[in-house]
Amino acid sequence: MHSKLPAVALVLAAALASGCGVAARPSDSAARASAPAGAASGVVVPAGAQSSAASPAGSPSPSPAPLPLAGRVVGIDPGHNGGNFSDPGFINQMIWNGRESETCDTTGTETASGFTEASFNFDVATYLRADLVAVGAQVVMTRQTNTGVGPCVTTRAQIINDAHAGVAIDIHADGGPTWGRGFAVLEPVADGPNDAVISGSLQFGADVRAALLRETAMPESNYDGTNGLVSRDDLAGLNLTTVPKILVECGNMINSTDAAMLTSPAFQQQLARAFTAAITVFLTGQPA
Ligand SMILES: [Zn+2]
Repeated sequence: MHSKLPAVALVLAAALASGCGVAARPSDSAARASAPAGAASGVVVPAGAQSSAASPAGSPSPSPAPLPLAGRVVGIDPGHNGGNFSDPGFINQMIWNGRESETCDTTGTETASGFTEASFNFDVATYLRADLVAVGAQVVMTRQTNTGVGPCVTTRAQIINDAHAGVAIDIHADGGPTWGRGFAVLEPVADGPNDAVISGSLQFGADVRAALLRETAMPESNYDGTNGLVSRDDLAGLNLTTVPKILVECGNMINSTDAAMLTSPAFQQQLARAFTAAITVFLTGQPA
């Protein structure tokens, strides 16, 4: 979710303390199960098959082909954090986002059943990291657990900038109207610090949109933006980025149809595969 939250949201989030962070975090086995999916998409050739097919008898075996994202750095920002509700003094401090003041972070939204956006974001990020590592990428994440507080959105941008990522994705889910469905890709607007990465970000946004439509059943948003794309000049993560970046609202947690998808580990892994495909085509020009 990436709109300013009413104060009631903090109260609501505080009520979740007992269940938050326990449900639906991908287990290690699930994360491992996700990793071979990336490898199974045709990028990794078993060494035995490769050498027997490619080299004449007696000649040295050729080196294995490099993984498609070897040497590439990818930034992932799983929005919010599971502990944000516990420290409103920290989360509500005002920071400068490059164009205006906003709060350090928010608690994010949640489904009617109490599955928090922070958990969703971290689950998808964990699957995505596994998929990216499987194809050779170095992954930088802005938080390592779903039990902490923050960091502020400015710090999240800085972590990814400092890593000199080739591309980055901020993962969220929205708290839209109950009737509203679908994903939205939020794209930066030139404001100085991000001027050099606007065109790259728009290209990556198109790649993410195409991959979501091709590889998942989530439709484009019917309440935010046009054709699933939205320009935003009020978010630190986009205003301050010096690497190509978009923020994706993967669906609407308030809508029951979207919520059923967003809470499904199988759908979360589908999202990760779609993002891996978009990142691969953006960085290499080749399909995943
Ligand atoms: Zn959010």
